Amino acid sequence: MNEKNTKKKIKVAFPHMGNIYIVWASALRRMGVEPYIPPYTNKRTLSLGTKNSPDSICLPYKLILGNFIEAIEGGADCVAMITSPGICRLGEYGPNIEKTLEELGYHAKYIELKLYDGIKGMYRFLVELTGEKNPVTILRAIIFALKKVFVVDRLENLLSYYRAREIKEGSAERAYNKGLKYILDANHSHELKQAEKRATAEMKKVEIDPNRDVVYVDITGEIYLVQDPFSNQNIERELGKMGVQTRRTLTVSSFLKDAIIPKIFKKGETHLERAFRLAKPYLSRDIGGDALECISDVAYANEKGKDGIIHISPFTCMPEIMSQNIFPAMRENCDIPILPLIMDEQTGKAGYLTRLEAFVDLMRRRKRKKEKELANADNEKTATEVK
Ligand code: SF4
Repeated sequence: MNEKNTKKKIKVAFPHMGNIYIVWASALRRMGVEPYIPPYTNKRTLSLGTKNSPDSICLPYKLILGNFIEAIEGGADCVAMITSPGICRLGEYGPNIEKTLEELGYHAKYIELKLYDGIKGMYRFLVELTGEKNPVTILRAIIFALKKVFVVDRLENLLSYYRAREIKEGSAERAYNKGLKYILDANHSHELKQAEKRATAEMKKVEIDPNRDVVYVDITGEIYLVQDPFSNQNIERELGKMGVQTRRTLTVSSFLKDAIIPKIFKKGETHLERAFRLAKPYLSRDIGGDALECISDVAYANEKGKDGIIHISPFTCMPEIMSQNIFPAMRENCDIPILPLIMDEQTGKAGYLTRLEAFVDLMRRRKRKKEKELANADNEKTATEVK
């Protein structure tokens, strides 16, 4: 750790989005800067954000503003916001949040990371944030943070596998939380490798029923809501309890492959490249947000024989309103159940769980019907061969 910078004691806070704080905290620690992790998004965060935001703005904006208010109240000197140019409101998040914080009297240095500036943008951002000028230190911190993203994503996939089959409810999540702590505490690449091994070993200790009738569901939608359990009301946990193995189609690692990682280091087709290819018959250009990816994710899940796909979007999110309007036209080519869910601060848990249960029932019935049809076809074939 850089002793000289640690003494500066800058407390930097990032907004929450699922487990992304683990990655930022690691990168900053590697550069000798103290990360300030605000309380994980909760009801108070939502209420602070909602009270100080325009009514019709999308849910992620309100939660991010709430995170920043709580971070500054908790002593953060600097808040860092991730932005990107865009056809949707994301481009407006930065200036509005900065102005609102100032007007409310929450004074902290405000720094923006423009994601689509790639590695160079990240480099400039870290120089501005930490004052560190040594390119080797900065690059090492970036590479280390990127490695952590991939490790966390792999651990989340394991969680989904084990949670859908666990015998004791909650055991997979407990093992996962232990593993996550190992990953958070790793400060170097060799420690990270060890941490991943230990985390995987924790997951493998979870007692499962390997014969459980599991259904497979992809989760797509606006990336913040897909990633963030508070704003999606922990949809993956609820589905896991119902014996559903989920796969997020929008992950931080897939996003970074498209936005940050240089082409020469990428293997195979990225999510965005696949999105342009598969969404083409239905949507020929990027309309902002994650709409293009969502359309292509439906086609991809259908191609992969998934039992269903859930699309989650914030209320008033324009790109996702568009994609939800395209789904009916896709039914001609894609024979897959789609459940669109719109979330905002008013979404009640009971109604939302009822919709999930009904969707899981539908997928199970469909799956059994298909299996029966397949078995009948096999029997008919054998009977004809015997004749
Ligand atoms: S994609 Fe939707 S929710 Fe996200 S910033 Fe744009 S309009 Fe808001």
